[in-house]
Amino acid sequence: TLTVSQGKITFNQVSFHYAAERPILNNISFSITPGQKVAVVGESGSGKSTLVKLLFRFYDVNSGAIKIDELAINQVEQASLRQAIAIVPQDTVLFNASLFDNIQYGRPDASEQEIQRAIDLAHLRQFINSLPEGLNTQVGERGLKLSGGEKQRVAIARAILKKAPIMVFDEATSSLDSHSEQSILQALKEVAKDHTSLVIAHRLSTIIDADNIIVMSQGQIAEQGTHQHL
Ligand code: ATP
Ligand code: MG
Repeated sequence: TLTVSQGKITFNQVSFHYAAERPILNNISFSITPGQKVAVVGESGSGKSTLVKLLFRFYDVNSGAIKIDELAINQVEQASLRQAIAIVPQDTVLFNASLFDNIQYGRPDASEQEIQRAIDLAHLRQFINSLPEGLNTQVGERGLKLSGGEKQRVAIARAILKKAPIMVFDEATSSLDSHSEQSILQALKEVAKDHTSLVIAHRLSTIIDADNIIVMSQGQIAEQGTHQHL
C-alpha cells in the first residue's frame, strides 16, 4: 500500500492515447519535488487535464511510468492512491444533498473546527451566511442550484478537508470573477504551503509564483522553467 509521506511526483516518458489511436500525450517527463508548486499551461486540448487523469489513474498509460514518491502508481491500491491526491476538477459535479454533505464528503470524521476552517479558506463563508438555510441548503441535482464559482469553492473546501499530501487544481478558478479568484488564490497559497501542488491554469495570475511552469503543446512539453526564465 501507498503511504505517501513526501508527495513527490515523477512522469517518466509517458505516452497515452484514449480509445482511438490518436496520440494525446507524447513522451512526457517531469518531476515535482515534495512541497513544490508546479503549474501547467497550454492551449485547449493540449493534454493538461489528461495528465491529471493519468496521475489519478482514471486511465493507464500506454508507455512510460508515473511514480509517487518511489512507487509506480500501477503498483499501489487504487484506494490509497486516491487518498493521497485531492483534486479540484475542471467541472465540479456535486451530488444532490446539502452543502454540508458536499463539503464534508470523504471526511466523515472531520471536526467542526476543520469544516469551519475549510469554509473560510475556500471563501464560502459569505455565500453560506447569505442562505436562509445555510449549510443545510440543498444544492440540487448535480449542484445545479449553485453557480460555477460556488461549486468550485465547494470543491476547494472539500479538497482542503481531505488533507492529502498532493493537491491538484484543474483551472480551479476558471469560473470565478477576478475578485473571487484573487481571494481563492491567496487561500490556495496558504493551503498549498505544506503540500505538493499541481495547478493547471489559463491565467498568468494563477501561476506567477510557481516553482516550475510546464508549457504543454499538442501533447508534448514545449518548454518548462520559472516564470522569470520563460
Ligand atoms: P482544456 O484547456 O480545454 O481543458 P486540456 O489541455 O485539459 O484542454 P485534455 O482534456 O487533456 O485537454 O484533452 C486532450 C485531448 O484529448 C483533446 O483533444 C480531447 O479531445 C481528447 N480527450 C479528452 N478526453 C477524452 C476522452 N475521454 N476520450 C477521447 N478523447 C479525449
Ligand atoms: Mg482541461
